[in-house]
Amino acid sequence: MRFVRFHTGNNVPTYGWIYGEQVGLIDGTPFGEYRRMEAGIDLASIQLLAPTEPSKIICVGRNYVDHAKEHGVDVPEVPMLFLKPPSALLATRLPIMLPPQSSQVEHEAELAVVIGRRGRWIAPNDAKDYIFGYTIANDVTARDLQRRDGQWTRGKGFDTFCPVGPWIETEMDPYDQLITCRVNQDVRQMASTRDMVFSVQQLIAFASSVMTLEPGDLILTGTPAGVGPLTPGDIVQVSIEGIGELTNPVVEEP
Ligand code: MG
Repeated sequence: MRFVRFHTGNNVPTYGWIYGEQVGLIDGTPFGEYRRMEAGIDLASIQLLAPTEPSKIICVGRNYVDHAKEHGVDVPEVPMLFLKPPSALLATRLPIMLPPQSSQVEHEAELAVVIGRRGRWIAPNDAKDYIFGYTIANDVTARDLQRRDGQWTRGKGFDTFCPVGPWIETEMDPYDQLITCRVNQDVRQMASTRDMVFSVQQLIAFASSVMTLEPGDLILTGTPAGVGPLTPGDIVQVSIEGIGELTNPVVEEP
C-alpha cells in the first residue's frame, strides 16, 4: 500500500492512502491502529507533505563503492552514520533553497527506509519486522562546507536539504531496484540498490545498536556515484523502481 501525508481543507496535516489516482483519509496513524476511509480525493489536486514525521533522520555515508571512489576515499569497515535534522525535510514539488554560505550544493539520490516499530539492538534477521516501508530521499549536501568543516552537520543540515517522498510504499523488495537521478532530464546517477556495501538489514541492526529507532524514523541508505551540482532553475528528479518519483525545483534562498 502507498501512504501519503497532506493538508486537509482546514489545514490539518493528515495521513492518507492511495487507491489508483485517488486518496482516502486515514483515521488514526499508519504506524498504529487506523481505519481507511473511502478514496475520493484526486491525488493530482493535493500538495503532498513529507510522508513521515521522523524523530530523527539517520544517514549513511559511502555505502556504494563507486561513490566512495569518486571522492577518493575508502569504503568504511562499519557503516558511517550521521544525522540530518527534521527541520531539513521537504515535500515533493517544493523548492530546494541554495543557501548563501555555499557555492557547491549537490544532489544525492537515496533509498530511504521508514521505521515502523520502536527498537534497540535489532538483529539483522529481525530487521524486516521493524520496517514500515520505503520512500525516496535526496540527501542534498553543501559539499564545500562539508569539506571545510570536517564534520557534516552544517553541510547536510540546511532547511530544505532533505526532500522525501512522494509517498511511503509498504510492499517493496529493496534489494535490486534501480535508483536514478535526473537534473533537467539529464541522467546524473543510475545504479541498483544491490550495489550497497551494507544492506538495509545491516544498517537497521547497526543504527539500532547506537540509538533507539522510533516509528516514522528515516534511514537514508547512501548514494551511488554521479553526485553533482545544483544551480538555480534546475529541476531534480529522483526515481526508484517500485516507488515512484520525487521532484524538486532549485532556487536561491531569498
Ligand atoms: Mg548521502
